[in-house]
Amino acid sequence: MRFESTPAIVLRTREYGESDKIVTVLSRAAGKFSGIAKGAKRSQRRFPGTLEIFSHVTLDYKRRPHSELAFLERAVLLQPWPRLLNTLERFTAASHVVELADKMSVESEVGDDLYRIVAATLARLNAAEPGPATLRLFELAALHASGYRPELVVCRGCTRPLAADRGPVRLVGGLGGALCSQCRAREEGGMLLSNEALDCLGTLQVAVARAGLGNGHDGDGGHDAHDGHGPWAVEGAVAARLSARAAREVALALDLLLAPHLRGRLRSLELLGPVLNDPVSGGNGLR
Ligand SMILES: [Zn+2]
Repeated sequence: MRFESTPAIVLRTREYGESDKIVTVLSRAAGKFSGIAKGAKRSQRRFPGTLEIFSHVTLDYKRRPHSELAFLERAVLLQPWPRLLNTLERFTAASHVVELADKMSVESEVGDDLYRIVAATLARLNAAEPGPATLRLFELAALHASGYRPELVVCRGCTRPLAADRGPVRLVGGLGGALCSQCRAREEGGMLLSNEALDCLGTLQVAVARAGLGNGHDGDGGHDAHDGHGPWAVEGAVAARLSARAAREVALALDLLLAPHLRGRLRSLELLGPVLNDPVSGGNGLR
């Protein structure tokens, strides 16, 4: 049987027996899948240190008819991101990225948008320390990529534009969007969102859409998402005008929107608060 080949990012690995590894990857060609790398701990030729978390590799593999685990033949480094391990801040942010991608995706569900977003975000984190909007852009892009683009422009109840609303709107995770100040009494769940936080989310969403992340094509310029033309271009401007209170609202809002689509609790949340001073510390109970 012939091997297939795809670019892939290692999401997690575990040792298996004396010399094997079981590896879960997010790939461009085949979505998320797991495979066994026989002799991975011994073979520098087939796996030269390339089966570690965050590794961006070209993976040769083949499916096995009666096994959920693919057979991994070789992994060659495609793009090194050495600085992800340099600081606790970058490592923590990158860990959140791969864990969120893992828990949002189902094995063998094919689609390359999530792969592209994870690759772009890890490249961004390798290039510079994470800022206050870095992970929010990733989280929103991951929602877009998975087909859960939130409705932040018009009311989910009456379809009036939310931007024209004077009062806070109610964001409801199960609705994938917000209810205006007239409609918000219909629901008790979710959270109230200030105009400032709603405006910030709108800016981030426009940046994600412009970069072509999460809508299946390459956006307006065809640039890589991490070369300064991607959604990261708005990071500085957003961070500069965002109050601490609105930053916290935006973080909680993304928590709320992501929650219905995650399988299992995000362990990375416990570190985001202490390490990155991220408003989401995992203790808010929203997940
Ligand atoms: Zn309404």
